[in-house]
Amino acid sequence: MTSPASSPTSGQFPQMGEHPGEPHSDSLGDKLNALRAAVLGANDGIVSTAGLVMGVAGATADRQVILIAGLAGLVAGALSMAVGEYVSVSTQRDTERALIAKETRELSEEPEDELAELAGLYRQKGLSEELARQVAVELTAHDALRSHLDIELGIDPDQLTNPWHAAWASMISFTAGALLPLLTIALFSPDLRVAVTLVAVGVALAGTGLLSARFGDAPVRPAVRRVVIGGVLAMAVTYAIGSLIGLGIA
Ligand SMILES: [Zn+2]
Repeated sequence: MTSPASSPTSGQFPQMGEHPGEPHSDSLGDKLNALRAAVLGANDGIVSTAGLVMGVAGATADRQVILIAGLAGLVAGALSMAVGEYVSVSTQRDTERALIAKETRELSEEPEDELAELAGLYRQKGLSEELARQVAVELTAHDALRSHLDIELGIDPDQLTNPWHAAWASMISFTAGALLPLLTIALFSPDLRVAVTLVAVGVALAGTGLLSARFGDAPVRPAVRRVVIGGVLAMAVTYAIGSLIGLGIA
């Protein structure tokens, strides 16, 4: 769980408007999570559908057969991505909610221990004993739960990730990614479709590789190289297998 490091109060003195229960717009963490899911979804949609239609194109030049296989793969993949994202983000959110409930209970049952704990955490951060105590007392008076969630668990109760956002984002992006190889393979004539799909997919994967590297603050070139080589390899393998099967059938 990597929630963005937040110091909820620092920039906001003197008028702090945040209290639990107040409506907040979509949080940044939630948006980033949805964007990350979207890029991964597009990438998966491109690679798996490209591999699928290339495999079928290796076996047959029949446009309808290729299209049916590609469409089935698109729908199955998009649904599977959505379910996967929903489950994983829901689990993460359940974990965060359980932690919030536990912290709430501890605060009501043993407030003195919790105050000492908070002061201890600020001492560990480098504050003197008196200042840490004062910080803990003032934060507890202002919003005890939020203070504990922030420094103890790195959770912002307003920024719990939404499983539906992640599910929709990955489903839509998988579909968008899958449409590219589906369209190139369907629109071009049998002698062109494989080459055009190969090039279009390579270019698109370079794009998703670049974006995902940017999101992860990773070096761009190795990320792009990896995803393009991986995608081209997937198409080459399925095309080869499809061709072999096509020869056997013919
Ligand atoms: Zn605590």
